[in-house]
Amino acid sequence: MSPFENQVAIVTGAGRGIGEAIAKRLAQGGAGVAVVSRTESNSARVAAEINALRAGAARPYAVDVSDFDAVQAIGEQILGDFGRCDHLVNNAGITRDTLAMRMGSEDWDAVLQTNLKGAFNFTRAVLRAMVKQRTGRIINISSVSGLMGLAGQANYAASKAGLVGMSKSIAREVASRGITVNVVAPGFIETDMTSVLNAEVREGARAQIPLARFGAVDDIASTVEFLCGPGAAYITGQVLAVDGGMSM
Ligand code: NDP
Repeated sequence: MSPFENQVAIVTGAGRGIGEAIAKRLAQGGAGVAVVSRTESNSARVAAEINALRAGAARPYAVDVSDFDAVQAIGEQILGDFGRCDHLVNNAGITRDTLAMRMGSEDWDAVLQTNLKGAFNFTRAVLRAMVKQRTGRIINISSVSGLMGLAGQANYAASKAGLVGMSKSIAREVASRGITVNVVAPGFIETDMTSVLNAEVREGARAQIPLARFGAVDDIASTVEFLCGPGAAYITGQVLAVDGGMSM
């Protein structure tokens, strides 16, 4: 079955990790996928792997999501290349963890600009097209950190909690146009982002997870697939935690 046939998805941060798994999952479902990341070689690799399975399904793009003008330009390019956008998955994100007492202004700005403003920038770039189509799904990837707060992540938690407020506001603005906006809040997932955690931090995290293990990228990809699919048409403005029960 191809639930996303003739549909187009933009996935940011798709050059690695969770975004790569989401891009591949939506492509498997028949979608054309704009594979966006900051580093050209990463988006090119993922797009090539998708195209090896279904020629022409993916195109790579490289942009810094925090740059408003650059994102508007890439958004126009993607809409020109694919002709439409049915799904936008704002997944690009970074961490700059340190205690608030030591956190520098640059650590704060970089994380807020990428994680929160980046999602706004891409939403702004495609929303008009979705309104014209009278259909669209926007999924913003938040974090358990934005729901609970985590020590050392004042900047990251603020950016991820900000995504929840932004998503609910935009969900209200565009619901009458057939567009839904939802949030997925992953817990600890095995990717490059968590591979830097030392054994002590990993063990401390694991102890807080009722399912007692880190999740896999496919746990998030399958949730996004559901929220983009026909079964989620009546869901908007919601936050779905995929965290092994950590935030319950
Ligand atoms: P990774 O660090 O593995 O990958 C991050 C991706 O985001 C990369 O493709 C990277 O591009 C891209 N990216 C980062 N900054 C920018 C930027 N300024 N402009 C464009 N692209 C950018 O992260 P994960 O896969 O682990 O995380 C994906 C999302 O899930 C993030 O939003 C993260 O906060 C969230 N999350 C992750 C959790 C986890 O445990 N892993 C837990 C909760 C939430 P490039 O490849 O070119 O460097």
